[in-house]
Amino acid sequence: MAPRALGRPIQAQSVRVGRRCRQLGRSSAGRLAAPHQVSPVAPVVRSGLSFRRPTMLTDLFVIFHGIGDPPAHIPAEERPYWIPEQTFRAFIRDANRAACAAGVQIVPTFDDGNRSDVDIAAPVLVDSKLPGLFFPCTGRIGRKGYLTEADLRTLNGHAFEIGSHGVDHVPWRRLDPDALYHEIAHSKVVIERILGHDITSAALPFGYYDAATLRLLRKSGYKAVYSSAPGISPADSWFRCRWCYRKDKRFDIQSIARRSRTLGFRLVSEGKHFLKSLL
Ligand SMILES: [Zn+2]
Repeated sequence: MAPRALGRPIQAQSVRVGRRCRQLGRSSAGRLAAPHQVSPVAPVVRSGLSFRRPTMLTDLFVIFHGIGDPPAHIPAEERPYWIPEQTFRAFIRDANRAACAAGVQIVPTFDDGNRSDVDIAAPVLVDSKLPGLFFPCTGRIGRKGYLTEADLRTLNGHAFEIGSHGVDHVPWRRLDPDALYHEIAHSKVVIERILGHDITSAALPFGYYDAATLRLLRKSGYKAVYSSAPGISPADSWFRCRWCYRKDKRFDIQSIARRSRTLGFRLVSEGKHFLKSLL
């Protein structure tokens, strides 16, 4: 299917999920109001391994990579994460209803900065009134098959949030301090220069991190970090779980939400994060 151009930029967008309604738009500073900033439930405070009422875990972030047929330049290890356009359209079409039944807010996220973000994903999200977060690698911006600076401004103009996925798509765990700074702090500055406002979200390449990674992310001013650890997250959490959509695995929102809320799943997830944060 031919890519559809995005229409006029959105100044404010109302996203309805079941009986809940979430406002997307720009803050007074001209920056995108992140979709998680308006929560339908009371905030949850997480500390260490303590757990609060699971019904307050509301955001189900979904990781997408490319949509459609992967172009020839896509590395072999990234190709399983590309999903057919019709599969994506069907998922988004049914997402609100399934999320409402499961008691979660679906928030699609897109890693790697592929061109399908702007050619396919964004128009579908606009039509469905769903929020979206896009995480390009700054070293790929403007390269063949990836988003350009103008594309980032277009997405930003449609009230989608843009975050950093680093520079060269390398794992951040165990990087030397200079390389880590380049990936985390420099990439933030590059996107801020393109968009003209603060960048406050980052997505961990390959989901890898360690204590030094988390320290530098906080020091650099990131207000939210998106991992590849499965789970659902409180609306105000700094470290956010995401479920990855793969074309070779079933993605059922209700069963994922149910599983994510079980005590055993949360104990394992929090325990793994606690250990990785110490290393
Ligand atoms: Zn990635």
